[in-house]
Amino acid sequence: MTYRLSVSGTPVRIDFDPDEVRARFAKERDRRIKREGVDQFQGLSDVLEHEDVDRYAQPITREAVFEETDVVLLGGGLGGLCTGAYLRKHGVTDFRIIEQGGDFGGTWYWNRYPGVQVDMESLMYMPFLEETGYIPTQRYADGAELYEHTQRLGKHFDLYRSALFQTIVTSVTWDNDQRRWEVRTDRGDVIRARFVVRSNGVLSKPQIPRVPGINDFKGKIFHTSRWDYDYTGGDQRGNLSKLKDKRVAVVGTGATAIQVVPFLAKDAGELLVVQRTPSTVGVRNNVPIDPNSVATLEPGWQAARIRNFNEIMNEHDPAENVVNDTWTQVFGKFDGRDLVDVDHKTLPLEDQLELRGLADLYFTLQIHKRIDSIITDPETAEALKPWYGYVCKRPGLNDEYYPAFNQPNVRLVPSPDGVDGITETGLVVDGKAYDVDLIVFSTGFETNGSTRSRYGYEVTGRSGLTMSDYFSDGAKTLHGLYTRNFPNFIELGLSQNAYIVNFGFMLERKANHAARVIAHAMNHGIDIEPTQEAQEEWVTKVREAAKPALSYMAECTPGYYNGQGDISKASFREVYKISEVDFWDQMDAWWEEGALDGLDVAPAHAAQPTTGSH
Ligand code: NDP
Repeated sequence: MTYRLSVSGTPVRIDFDPDEVRARFAKERDRRIKREGVDQFQGLSDVLEHEDVDRYAQPITREAVFEETDVVLLGGGLGGLCTGAYLRKHGVTDFRIIEQGGDFGGTWYWNRYPGVQVDMESLMYMPFLEETGYIPTQRYADGAELYEHTQRLGKHFDLYRSALFQTIVTSVTWDNDQRRWEVRTDRGDVIRARFVVRSNGVLSKPQIPRVPGINDFKGKIFHTSRWDYDYTGGDQRGNLSKLKDKRVAVVGTGATAIQVVPFLAKDAGELLVVQRTPSTVGVRNNVPIDPNSVATLEPGWQAARIRNFNEIMNEHDPAENVVNDTWTQVFGKFDGRDLVDVDHKTLPLEDQLELRGLADLYFTLQIHKRIDSIITDPETAEALKPWYGYVCKRPGLNDEYYPAFNQPNVRLVPSPDGVDGITETGLVVDGKAYDVDLIVFSTGFETNGSTRSRYGYEVTGRSGLTMSDYFSDGAKTLHGLYTRNFPNFIELGLSQNAYIVNFGFMLERKANHAARVIAHAMNHGIDIEPTQEAQEEWVTKVREAAKPALSYMAECTPGYYNGQGDISKASFREVYKISEVDFWDQMDAWWEEGALDGLDVAPAHAAQPTTGSH
């Protein structure tokens, strides 16, 4: 067929009927919408408390800490580590890091499931490679290597002495008279600080579906982020020797499951993969990194590489594609430039938008072709095909996932409703019972709801105002970092600032910015808090900018990106939809101007002596 753009009549090189594809997208979406929306999930700890445990730490005992410090960092993942590193670089040395896990690492501490890897080039994801002199072994490092790197950062920047591990924050409260934050923990610590930087993660509280019968199951159940190697044998790199005679079910086929499945397929006696919605799984092409090729790079190469990547991802059209991975190959052409024989920028605006919409369909259908070229059973191939816009869910990259379904011990169990129930001996999908020994929930993390629900503690600002109440109708920040009524509190989250796909970069960049602002405030003896006007202006700007993306997401198949089909509950609705390159250029200019525009700066109070008797 020849498809022509509506206004100019320019032919587009596609081999599908867009109306048919869109109709199928809508049909598949409607089949998956659940009345319960985001409430179809519950916290892992709500129903399987004994499984929501830290299997990697030896329990410690210690005396409670009572102290006054300059900064408390909530979270010892990449955000907390990078903030600690930059605080030291900017001359702030008196700070505490409070971390629930038994070591640094965050995501890489908890997610130790077999096959865990980063889906972003290690050379761009792992912070401070130049400064620590570390060269990753593979283009996409595995979880063990990433976890080791977080410890390397801890040692390199001398952060261990500042850390309180295995410690859970219970409250964070602003004392307006003393102008200090007071952080309390489950170990009885009371730590007072001028500043708090929170980086507790976006995907940290494991969730599972509210499926009837979970507690009836007599076999073993766990969540991917709480993997039980005592039960499976082996480690993150595989060799799950105890599963040889076991029947295993994986529930979910998101970014985590596509990494787990090939490893379970290799070692389990039988593997059932319960799929509600198929993922898009593109080419990964993981290769070893030649240390010599990295050693010869010009200083500053990491920042330059990331910038080039972000420029492509944000359509700034740089002259060269340095990284040249699947991300840049797709997103660099998401405007459909390769589908027409003319310069797409010369087309009328309506046609450019139409072409972009076609490219979105085209990239999803390229995944169909990949599936057809790999999967031998036609029925399985059909069931694995995603029917939704390419960016409705996080696109996956993996070269072992699809081939696993050609193995005789692996069976795909597709059902748009997912798991119906769990019995004493297994699970029920689409009315059919499957007996298994182990159920692995690869069903993601809570992303909706308040931070109190996700992190388990409240932040209380001026006049007893809680953050949950203040944000009950949406986040309110300046630059996604500072919030009125919560002086000297900086959040390194996803709300109201830019993010495209690289969490490592996003956290490192925010950490640097937060640390320089704090150092500046300390050097000038000031407290910081956004003005009401600046905050309102920023929130309005963010919400306006997000509108086109939200109308795209509203049409998407349900998932955590779009609040399970209810866009008003979408977790990423507040991400600032301008280019991440532009956002940071804007932040750098804001910083260079030196006026801290939009922040109300008040003289800070001197510290009060700590009594130790709180
Ligand atoms: P997701 O939320 O992406 O996936 C959850 C999966 O569980 C989906 O396939 C979902 O189906 C399925 N599911 C939910 N309820 C049911 C049910 N009742 N029956 C059957 N299936 C069900 O979680 P992940 O842990 O996979 O990924 C979360 C995020 O973590 C990713 O988006 C990514 O940002 C990050 N990640 C990053 C990696 C990296 O390399 N950097 C690696 C792994 C994860 P449905 O789609 O129908 O809702």
